[in-house]
Amino acid sequence: MADGRTVEELAGVLEREHDLDPDGLIRLLTAPEAEPLRRAADRVRAKSVGAEVHLRGLIEFSNYCRGSCYYCGLRAGNHRIRRYRMTPGEIIATARQAVALGLKTIVLQSGEDLFYTEKELCAIVSALKNMDVAVTLSIGERPKSVYAALKRAGADRFLLRIETSNEALYTRLHPGMSYQNRVRSLYTLKELGYEIGTGCLVGLPGQTPAMLAADLLFFKKLDADMIGMGPFLPAPGTPLAGAAGGEVEPVLRMMALARLLMPAINMPATTALSVKDNDGYQKGLSWGANVIMPNMGRREYKRLYAIYPGKRDIPPAEQLVKIKAVLVELGREVGRGYGGRKK
Ligand code: SF4
Repeated sequence: MADGRTVEELAGVLEREHDLDPDGLIRLLTAPEAEPLRRAADRVRAKSVGAEVHLRGLIEFSNYCRGSCYYCGLRAGNHRIRRYRMTPGEIIATARQAVALGLKTIVLQSGEDLFYTEKELCAIVSALKNMDVAVTLSIGERPKSVYAALKRAGADRFLLRIETSNEALYTRLHPGMSYQNRVRSLYTLKELGYEIGTGCLVGLPGQTPAMLAADLLFFKKLDADMIGMGPFLPAPGTPLAGAAGGEVEPVLRMMALARLLMPAINMPATTALSVKDNDGYQKGLSWGANVIMPNMGRREYKRLYAIYPGKRDIPPAEQLVKIKAVLVELGREVGRGYGGRKK
């Protein structure tokens, strides 16, 4: 039985076989000691994706959302925040600035905002592709025809976090949304040829270690190319505003386990992790991460894109200086290519 084995033994199995039963994963998520897990994940990260850390320029182009996710400050029912939409011209100009700073991937993220037409979104993607960058979209659930049109326009990757793979918890936290549709959307994106990213929140009310272990096995079964995970941070104006937030260490353990289960994935040290912990980037990069997503937006938009509170207001060029200093400190280097998933 996995339960009788030590943390070192379980981490060793994962390092060799990149697979483990749910009991073993739960044990590694809850054992008092985690350092053997971190070391194994760091070795697998170095062997599988190397020292490079890919920087993805994030543009949060609209904070309108039709969704009502319980944990998210952008939910339609939150009237405390002022809403904004960037024009296509602004989005393209912001991307150009990110490219001038040397970034090779642009991530376009928004709430589920149906204001932009398929034609407008495709035109934005084409304009970005002309800048010789990889384009990642994070715009929520859309019909297959829209995903297909955006792919034809040149989009390379798509982020759609499942947030929790537990259907009952998902349903409780996402009124009006369908778990089945979320999962179907991920498989549709994959079938259309996108590199797909998913991930979860860690520390949600009602979430158990068994659910987190199931999340990891869900990601593996999906064969996701990118995994993003962060602590649940309660946001003002949401039904979970008064809930206890998630902690940093469980997120780090989840990241280490994801790296060990899926050695070649791209995985960010998320902004949420860096909000919760001043050393969040350093820690994330030491527990399996190989991506950072600096925010390229203008300060007033950054402030209004309030999925959770506490985001720091640092200009893009300054963020890059700070990130590069972290990489030097850790003996890592900025990724030179587009940073697609290693085959
Ligand atoms: S998590 Fe996404 S879909 Fe849900 S309310 Fe926030 S922005 Fe909208």
